[in-house]
Amino acid sequence: MLKLYDSLTREKREFVPVTKGEIKMYVCGVTVYNKMHIGNARTYVSYDIMREYFINFKNYKVLYIQNITDVGAVVGDADRGEDKIEKQARLAGLHPMEVVDMYIKLMWDGLDALRNRRPNISPRATGHIVEIIEAVQAMIASGSAYVAGGDVYIDVSKIKNYGCLSGNTLEALSAGYRIEAESKKRSPHDFSVWKSAGPKSDLKWNSPWGMGYPGWHIECSVMSQKYLGNTFDIHGGGADIKFPHHENEIAQSYALHGCQPVNYWVHTGMLNVDGAKMAKSAGNFITADDAITKFGARELRWFFVNCHYGSPTNISAESIAATEAGYERLATYFYNLKQNAGNAKNAELDKLLKDLANKFEASMDDDINTPNAVAAIYEFIKLTNPIIVSKQYNLGNISAITEFFSKVNQVFKVFDFLTETGGKPDDREAKVKQLIEERNNFRAAKNFAEADRVKQEILALNVELYDNKDGTTYRLK
Ligand code: AMP
Ligand code: ZN
Repeated sequence: MLKLYDSLTREKREFVPVTKGEIKMYVCGVTVYNKMHIGNARTYVSYDIMREYFINFKNYKVLYIQNITDVGAVVGDADRGEDKIEKQARLAGLHPMEVVDMYIKLMWDGLDALRNRRPNISPRATGHIVEIIEAVQAMIASGSAYVAGGDVYIDVSKIKNYGCLSGNTLEALSAGYRIEAESKKRSPHDFSVWKSAGPKSDLKWNSPWGMGYPGWHIECSVMSQKYLGNTFDIHGGGADIKFPHHENEIAQSYALHGCQPVNYWVHTGMLNVDGAKMAKSAGNFITADDAITKFGARELRWFFVNCHYGSPTNISAESIAATEAGYERLATYFYNLKQNAGNAKNAELDKLLKDLANKFEASMDDDINTPNAVAAIYEFIKLTNPIIVSKQYNLGNISAITEFFSKVNQVFKVFDFLTETGGKPDDREAKVKQLIEERNNFRAAKNFAEADRVKQEILALNVELYDNKDGTTYRLK
């Protein structure tokens, strides 16, 4: 039985879809004002794994929406302020839509490299201004929102259950609130759904309240409900946007339809880098494309598979090296499996494979517990290695094992050894290391002609070389 941890009820619950056999899920997409970072990538790979499991193991038809926030997120995620995209455009001397197009392309490049399936729909906020204005009008008409100058705010005192997701009830919020200077709000906890735009702004639309643009929260409410209905199955995003973003989506749903928008709120844990929250100021901010260059896309995805999606996780060169050591064991196992077949079918091997299949599905059913699923795979390898070494199995066993791992790979999408080199560990590795050493020796002896010759020899092995201050690293292509 499939169970998911729902952040709203704070428990693992049996998953029951609104419509039998179908899952409708919405995941908050990136705000496209700079390059996607490795934390964003962790979140989207996590939902890709979930989605593929629902499709390939649970036979659901999945409608997966991941929006693109191309207006409305303001600097500092405050209620008012400069739009993040507009600010970036101003600094770069570009039109905001040039900024948007550039970072959307880079985002897909990164997610494609990480082997994510593209969403069924990736709606852009700027393509839904008409629907957003209609929603704001409806909330004003029902008395849940009010106009203040050219802005429109939700009156949170009118919202049933405000704070139900994050625990930030009005009482809890009132304890520590700061009075905002020049605020037009009735209460400091009210939040904007429509914001007036100044004359210099390039991102603005005509509305009943003057020229302006939508708030970030209303965009996601409108786009999710347009494509998935007033109450749909799964809403995702990182734990950092539970409040205020998701809390306010719930408030807007009550204001618009008087109901919860979602049956399962599923949040990913934050990815930290080298033990610290990622921040430009801390110098540990890694873009997804830099991480892909440094560690490799398959390596990153495997690292994410090894972590539970809901747990805060630390990424470092050491943690990647640790998951890679496990990967090498798997690749070696498959290499040996294909080399050592004998003639007789091994019934014990079949039974252990069946046990693995059961454990794999039980782990994934248990709130997509990928680390437990991986542990079950390692246990299988450990238990069956003696059989492989003793060659007491046949081609029938091999195809059963390969078939199972191929099915798992529809979800994990990392087991390249199943196809590429037939399980043989890449033999370029040792050669490249030896050549790098040779080249270093030539460089140290200032024999640059020879050093360059060796470099060409390395590149001919289809390898990328990176010379940096700590030495030379490489990536097999
Ligand atoms: P943003 O573009 O900042 O709105 O983020 C896009 C998505 O990535 C949201 O679902 C965020 O919750 C998620 N996210 C942002 N930072 C991290 C992080 N460090 N680790 C995991 N997910 C993150
Ligand atoms: Zn959102």
